[in-house]
Amino acid sequence: MKCESCGGNLQPGDEFCQSCGAKVEAKKETVETVAQATETAYTAEAPTSQIMEPAKKAAAPVEDKPGFAIAGLVLGIITLVAWLLMPLIGYITGIVGIIMSVKGMKSSRKNMAIAGLVMCIVGLVITVGWHCAATCIIMSAMS
Ligand SMILES: [Zn+2]
Repeated sequence: MKCESCGGNLQPGDEFCQSCGAKVEAKKETVETVAQATETAYTAEAPTSQIMEPAKKAAAPVEDKPGFAIAGLVLGIITLVAWLLMPLIGYITGIVGIIMSVKGMKSSRKNMAIAGLVMCIVGLVITVGWHCAATCIIMSAMS
């Protein structure tokens, strides 16, 4: 390696020429340019992987209706407690809740829909049972 100013010999790692005192920059600049080029290559790659992310999300099922699953679950809870207050409500919420839950099965909240369906059925059974029991009590009381 030689000095750019005077052509004198330079030792590896010298920052200044020992003959003329000129700053030795040539090699350092090359290293920095390569480092920058590598950095640019990495940053240029980054946006490509970021673009891939939303594309994957868009591939998810389009007809996702978790609202039906939530409605089924809520109606199931109402059905379970409705017979305590007004038994007739249990029939309506139970039947509507089952329909909602079945529709909600196709959504991303399948487990919620199943829970709602189970609660609606149990609630309906309790409501029917309560009505039978109440009718029996009334009948025996009247006779
Ligand atoms: Zn020199």
